[in-house]
Amino acid sequence: MTKWTVEELIPAIRSTMERTYNKSVESASIQEVFDVVSTIVNQTIEVNWSKTNNHYREKNPKQVYYLSMEFLIGRLLDSNLLNSGMWDVCNEALTSLGFDPIEVYRQERDPGLGNGGLGRLAACFLDSLASLNYPGHGYGIRYRYGLFEQRLINGYQVELPDDWLIKPYPWEKRRADEAIQIEFGGKAYLQQRADGSLACIYEQTDKVLAVPYDIPIVGYHNEVVNTLRLWSAEPISTKDRPDRDAHYSQLDNNHAIEQISGILYPDDSSEQGKMLRIKQQYFLVTATLKQMIKDFKATNQQSLVDFADKVVIQINDTHPSLAIPELMRILLDEERVDWDVAWAMTTKVFAYTNHTIMSEALEKWHVNQIKSLLPRLYMIIEEINERFCQTIWQDYPHLRERIPAMAIIADEQVHMARLAMVGSFSVNGVAKLHTEIIKTEEMKDFYALYPERFNNKTNGITHRRWLMMANPRLAQLITNTIGTQWIKRPRELTHLLRYTKDQPLLEKLGEIKQHNKQKLADFIHHSTGILVDSQSIFDVQIKRLHEYKRQLLNIMHVIYLYNELKENRQLEITPRTFIFAAKAAPSYYFAKEVIKLINTVAAVVNADADIKGKLKVVFLENYNVTLAERIIPAADVSEQISTASKEASGTGNMKMMMNGALTLGTLDGANIEIEQLVKPANIFIFGLRAEEVYDYYRNGGYSAHEIYQNDERINRILHQLRDGLFGQQNFENIYYQLLSANDPYFVLKDFDSYVETQQLVDQAYQQPNKWLSKSLVNIAHSGKFSSDRTIQEYATGIWKIEKL
Ligand SMILES: *Cc1c(COP(=O)(O)O)cnc(C)c1O
Repeated sequence: MTKWTVEELIPAIRSTMERTYNKSVESASIQEVFDVVSTIVNQTIEVNWSKTNNHYREKNPKQVYYLSMEFLIGRLLDSNLLNSGMWDVCNEALTSLGFDPIEVYRQERDPGLGNGGLGRLAACFLDSLASLNYPGHGYGIRYRYGLFEQRLINGYQVELPDDWLIKPYPWEKRRADEAIQIEFGGKAYLQQRADGSLACIYEQTDKVLAVPYDIPIVGYHNEVVNTLRLWSAEPISTKDRPDRDAHYSQLDNNHAIEQISGILYPDDSSEQGKMLRIKQQYFLVTATLKQMIKDFKATNQQSLVDFADKVVIQINDTHPSLAIPELMRILLDEERVDWDVAWAMTTKVFAYTNHTIMSEALEKWHVNQIKSLLPRLYMIIEEINERFCQTIWQDYPHLRERIPAMAIIADEQVHMARLAMVGSFSVNGVAKLHTEIIKTEEMKDFYALYPERFNNKTNGITHRRWLMMANPRLAQLITNTIGTQWIKRPRELTHLLRYTKDQPLLEKLGEIKQHNKQKLADFIHHSTGILVDSQSIFDVQIKRLHEYKRQLLNIMHVIYLYNELKENRQLEITPRTFIFAAKAAPSYYFAKEVIKLINTVAAVVNADADIKGKLKVVFLENYNVTLAERIIPAADVSEQISTASKEASGTGNMKMMMNGALTLGTLDGANIEIEQLVKPANIFIFGLRAEEVYDYYRNGGYSAHEIYQNDERINRILHQLRDGLFGQQNFENIYYQLLSANDPYFVLKDFDSYVETQQLVDQAYQQPNKWLSKSLVNIAHSGKFSSDRTIQEYATGIWKIEKL
């Protein structure tokens, strides 16, 4: 790779500016500077990108294909600069040209091609794969419109379309030459060939072109550039237009085709029973598999014999699980492989990651939907199901009565998680507790059948983006203290444990946090008009809005504090700023009401002079990767308060821990693993345990009403919700959900324990040195949650791939 120096980069920026815009840098807009810098970075990456691709072609190593309906990659200019070793040089060059580098990087639009944790995980994994020299690529969809942009109007969420391609996206490369033709719908039937074998005849299918757009994934300081390939749906040809009517129906048709990659479904955790969603899923998997097989044959003497030894496909949740019957279809119908051979290959290739046990998120499609859209695939799913049920009946008599609960097709539904488990050699959960729950509760029948398939891979985050890039001051302090080793081996952050009593270091740590908080306070003031005290505790809950994540519990605690302060003007509490950011799915009424509630409370609390600034509540709009990067380095308290057993892992918890926030959380998801590392003294744990939640599910015995009657604090808050909080707006639905629906997420049950633990947080913050020492312990143990560790575990435990 070209190693740029400042002396070389400055003239390169000047001459590229001349060439592209016919301008001097001095007269250029900041957007033009961004364009020019991106061009130069792209050219630099390009060299290693072709080198890496050539290497894969020549060495023909086993490769992993990560299939995901979502990739939440965030901005790429700064991360590409960081990973390609140009960051410092570029910062310096831009500064000396009179530009603020941060302002330049902010010109980039954050592509919202994912909803939340699942899509962000996929992006972290690609970064780690490339940075660890692994041959691995992402495959997804180039949605024309990503996740909606959230605006708050009068405290309500309003959704605007995310028109992210309005300006050309500098990091993608259209590869029209590698477009793949794919087919939907029509009819399929079997016909005997002359030799007696069966051929599948397809008639009247709709044909669509899948055009790949490739995005380079730059490894950290290692010259590796892998690929994220995003497919775009286009009409096959618009050239032949026989007559006017045909022309218009063609236009209609083109519109329908473009819709396939038109928009990302904005729902994080409930299944969307929509034909278009199935079409999108099939579009991703058929295009990807067809291209993989074509490429594979080209580099392997037109033979698929070694396919299963050279290819492993990780499916990110069930969304891409149609890939299993689709690979069978290609092998059977196009490659004329026998069923048994094809099935042996297929089940050697696929590995499935489960992300949730919430029943409303488990994908099920009505058989008629699959039949009409994918008639041949349906026949194959039926056959897979038939054989699967046969096997249980014959070989596992003790599971016979479980067949209705295990069958892939049952009650006129195709159960995608069951298909994924049957068709994969590996099934993994995303944190220890989650994997245990899968094995012993939610998928225990399948665990009884295939115990060897189940394994855990606790999620991770890339420390390059979430520490080095988002919090460069902290990264520098760490390097000054323990050297640079931690960058390549993040587990070595534990060397910081020697410094938990080191006064000068703790002071510097405190200064950096204060600096980050001041920057966030400025941003809050600038974007919302709210003035917050940067010395107050920054208490942060940022994540999708969902009942199980319990933003409601958090805001009820704020109401409780407000009530206390109103009652007793002399009451001393450590000043706090409660910071929220969250998008609600547009159709998720309850979640939207919680957003309105938070904003109503914010308006009342922030304006009340009696509170004397001891409390502030801020809701920042349009939560996305870029906003997360602004907030996380400034967090003191990381709110991870899901109902135990519901949050499969969480990754926001890891990002904040890595930036020195202390977790206030339930024993759920990866919080449990955080607690095991940092020990109870350095984390605030409260609330029901997962076993207790399951115990209530099994035996009943929870009465929200009883708590409501016996706890005066709760009683008062609920009446405030029902009767119009502080005389403004009422939240009857929340009131009824908590009482009539018996509080399905145990908000009232955990309230007391939460309030008590919040008091411990308040007291702990009064001792800055101790607090900073706890903060350092958290940073020191956060290396375990680098996605480098996760990817290393996938690579050796599931994928069996080797480093370049
Ligand atoms: C990390 C991240 C998430 C996941 O947060 P959780 O707290 O684990 O739910 C969601 N959205 C964005 C933008 C993120 O960066």
